[in-house]
Amino acid sequence: LPDEFEKARPVMQKIEAAGYEAYFVGGSVRDTIIGEKIHDVDIASSAYPEEIKKLFKRTVDTGIEHGTVMVLDNDKGYEITTFRTESGYQDYRRPDKVTFVRSLKEDLKRRDFTINALAMRENGEVTDLFGGIADIDKKIIRAVGNPNERFNEDALRMMRAVRFASKLNFNIEKETFNAIEKHSSLLEKIAIERIYVEFIKMMKGLKPKQGIDDMISTNMYLHVPLFADYRQQLSNISHFKNLNLNNEIEVWSLICFEFGLNREQISNFLKSWKASNEVINNTQTCCYALNAIQNDNMSDFLMYLTGENLLLEANYIASFYDCSIDNELLKKQYSSLPIKNKKQLAINGGILIKNGILKPGPMLGKALNAIEKQVVIGNLDNNTENIINFTKQYLKE
Ligand code: ATP
Ligand code: MG
Repeated sequence: LPDEFEKARPVMQKIEAAGYEAYFVGGSVRDTIIGEKIHDVDIASSAYPEEIKKLFKRTVDTGIEHGTVMVLDNDKGYEITTFRTESGYQDYRRPDKVTFVRSLKEDLKRRDFTINALAMRENGEVTDLFGGIADIDKKIIRAVGNPNERFNEDALRMMRAVRFASKLNFNIEKETFNAIEKHSSLLEKIAIERIYVEFIKMMKGLKPKQGIDDMISTNMYLHVPLFADYRQQLSNISHFKNLNLNNEIEVWSLICFEFGLNREQISNFLKSWKASNEVINNTQTCCYALNAIQNDNMSDFLMYLTGENLLLEANYIASFYDCSIDNELLKKQYSSLPIKNKKQLAINGGILIKNGILKPGPMLGKALNAIEKQVVIGNLDNNTENIINFTKQYLKE
């Protein structure tokens, strides 16, 4: 058993000793059986939240309304969720009612895919009611129960199917695939924030080609913002060899660059996906740098404005367009910049004011920007006296 499971055993044993059932469930069981590293440990139990709270001294109500209590043990937190069924799926979204049940089977039945519907006791004994292990061996994503019904209940599951196919390099089983194709338009009922999460995980997966191709062949791509007009570009992305994206900025930058979006279009596109302002800004900066790399006019000042992380991310995306700069060279060039940010300037507004060179106001900001640029491009040594002399000269002109 993985370390994370070993550490959780005393918690599980305590629940069992009190006469309830407790199982590891969800992604951690799947990943353990596949042999992947696990990240979060989810535990399901026949005990009701109040019963869990009576058993342990330290608990936190992290999601008590849907049955989740966090148990704190040895500086670790374990989310324990009461077995439950879900009902009243309206608008093809999450259920509005959950019912606590005592039966593991009921809990596993509501789960999305067979590979995600496995449960494991603290002693390692696995419950596999829907052939999840066989599907892991066959490397397929198969809905639990009737796929048409399951996607009608919650259309996000279609996006999750594609996500797991990419993440694990599995194929979507035929009937499940057909049901997605049939219901792809239901995706429009789902909050874009939830699609966003699955989409990014898909793109960061082992085989994004699989995920993108599935989104195209099921027509799912027609039902997420902007993709409908860019089928060819999406297909181009899916054909890049060794695509191994590390974060959402790389994902969005690649997409925006391939789609040929300008600054404003990037902003509109990412706003329709409800991306954060930080993500929008970083993607714009990354794409701008990417253009400069492609056009062979990356300058010291643009490197400075881009920052090292985004610069390297842009250069990674550039590699798919066969125009990247040697990474070591780029790092060396960046590290030789006289300063990396404004704070490293040997001057600031306060010093200029104290020395009677400038008064607070718009001119101060303008002068500081000019100073910053001259220092970055190497025209002006970064020492206070030098800069004061430069500023006096600058103000005369
Ligand atoms: P990851 O490794 O990415 O966390 P995961 O399988 O743990 O993958 P989660 O989104 O964390 O995925 O969900 C945990 C479990 O809850 C899933 O394995 C699945 O059993 C169940 N689940 C999550 N979302 C849904 C859904 N929309 N419909 C049905 N079951 C779901
Ligand atoms: Mg998980």
